[in-house]
Amino acid sequence: MNRRSFAQTVGGAVAMSALGRSTVWSESTSDGTPGRIMAIAAHPGDGLFTMGAVLAQQIERGGTGTLLSLSLGEKGAPKDIPVQHYGEMQRAATQKATHLLGADAIFLAYPDAEIPFNEESTLAVCDAIRQYKPDVVITHWSGSWHKDHQNCHLIVRDAVFYAALETLTRSRPAHSVSKVLYAENWEDASNFIPDTYLDIEAVYEKWLQACDFYPMWRGQTGFFRYNDYYSALSIARGCLSGFKHAVALMSDPGQRITRPRSL
Ligand SMILES: [Zn+2]
Repeated sequence: MNRRSFAQTVGGAVAMSALGRSTVWSESTSDGTPGRIMAIAAHPGDGLFTMGAVLAQQIERGGTGTLLSLSLGEKGAPKDIPVQHYGEMQRAATQKATHLLGADAIFLAYPDAEIPFNEESTLAVCDAIRQYKPDVVITHWSGSWHKDHQNCHLIVRDAVFYAALETLTRSRPAHSVSKVLYAENWEDASNFIPDTYLDIEAVYEKWLQACDFYPMWRGQTGFFRYNDYYSALSIARGCLSGFKHAVALMSDPGQRITRPRSL
């Protein structure tokens, strides 16, 4: 298949206003109404901790949000919980968390640590994009040490392309995603350069409550202090953007080109 560039495939724009060299995001469609967002994460915790506040903010303003998790994150199980049981705990926590935020939760349930980057997984995500028709997709940045996160990034890149390709026949018609953004994740930090700061103050407490459904958030399954890190990060990003709490996002480099007729 002759693939056009990512930037050519996902045209369109999200309204932005300048803040220094970065932007403050007004997450609306071209006619001013809040649009549909789909967060696509390798593991449920990534979805809630790094993308959940964005989903919540969109829903708060009248839009819709969907979280697609490519796995259940079951291999993060602590020693005293069987892996399969922990996966179901993760699924249940995600359903509670997304329900609290007003978002949909869907799973593809590939084996944790073995999420494949191939035609089957890419077409499965393509089909989800065609079904939910998001205006904006948020996913992992490529600069990750984690193979599942890297593969998720690649899967979403090609799934967005496939979803928009009208000559690719699937059960649902083609759908073009207007904007792809990358979430700030402590495991995906290599060359992550944020350019978009979203005010999450209206949903901050609700987002923390949603994250708290996960034992991982409370430090019960490993060493990393997710609660401290992501709550503190929202304050730090808020300091840089003039908000009390904010989430920093990164636009796809291929979508940063603007074509104004005057400056
Ligand atoms: Zn992860």
